[in-house]
Amino acid sequence: MPPGSGWPGDPATADTPVARSASDAARLAAAAATVGEVDALSSVCRACPRLVEWREAVAVSGRRAAFAEQPYWGRPGPSFGDPSAQKLIVGLAPAANGTNRTGRMFTGDRSGDWLYAALHRTGYASQPVSLAAGDGMVLTGVRIVASVRCAPPANRPTPAELAACGHWLDRDLALTAASPQGLVSVLALGGIAWNSVLAAVRRLGWDVPKPKPAFGHGTEVLLGLPGEGPTGRGAVRLLGSYHVSPHNTSTGRLTAEMLDAALLRL
Ligand code: SF4
Repeated sequence: MPPGSGWPGDPATADTPVARSASDAARLAAAAATVGEVDALSSVCRACPRLVEWREAVAVSGRRAAFAEQPYWGRPGPSFGDPSAQKLIVGLAPAANGTNRTGRMFTGDRSGDWLYAALHRTGYASQPVSLAAGDGMVLTGVRIVASVRCAPPANRPTPAELAACGHWLDRDLALTAASPQGLVSVLALGGIAWNSVLAAVRRLGWDVPKPKPAFGHGTEVLLGLPGEGPTGRGAVRLLGSYHVSPHNTSTGRLTAEMLDAALLRL
C-alpha cells in the first residue's frame, strides 16, 4: 500500500523519506523528533532486502485464502497506541497475514486476539477485539512496538535484520524516556523481544544489570537511565512475558490470567 494513499492510520505520506539501508535507518531514526515521526519513517523503510521482498510478495501473491479479496498493507508495522504512553509493549515481528495485512500491530491474527482481549480486560484498550485499522480501537497509557517491523519468513528475523530494525526501537525507547511523561515500564513478549530491548538500551547507554538478565515469564529487572543507575528513580522496569503466540496460548503455557497479571504489573 503506497504511503499516503488513504489507509486508516497510515503515519506516512508520499514525501516521507525512505531508508534503503541499515545506515539510512540509523540516520533517519536519529533525526526523528517524535514517536510519530519514527512511525512515519519506519513505515516506509526498505532497509532489509529479504524482508521487503517477503512482505510484498505475501501482500501481492501470497494472501491467505480467507483474505484473498482484501488489500494488504505490505509495509513495516508502525507502533500503535498512545503517543504519550509511559508503558511500552515490545513484540517480535508482524505476522504475514496479520499486521502485514491490516497495517496495525497485532491486528487481525490469533496473537492479537489474545493481546487485545487482555488489554481490554486490564483497562488499556477501548475494545476487546482488534479487527482492522480504522475500527475505532484506542489504547490508553500503552504503546505497542515490534523488535522487527517487517513480517519475516517463518517468524525468524536474522541477526542483521534485528540489528537494522533496532535503530527504530532505539529511537522509540529514547524518545519515550526523554518525553515529559517519561518511560515507566516495558513488557517484552518473548525472549527475542527481551533481548532486543536489552540490546537497544545498552546502545543507548542505559545501565543494564550484569550478568545479562535471562528472559523468563514474570521476570523483572530495572534498567537505569544514563547517569542515574537502577535505583528506582530514573529507572525503567523491564518485565518479561511469554509471547502471545498460538503455540503458547493453545498449549496453556500462557494463560489469560498470566497475561493479565503481567499487564497489571506494568
Ligand atoms: S525490518 Fe525494520 S529495518 Fe528492516 S526493512 Fe523492515 S522496518 Fe526497515
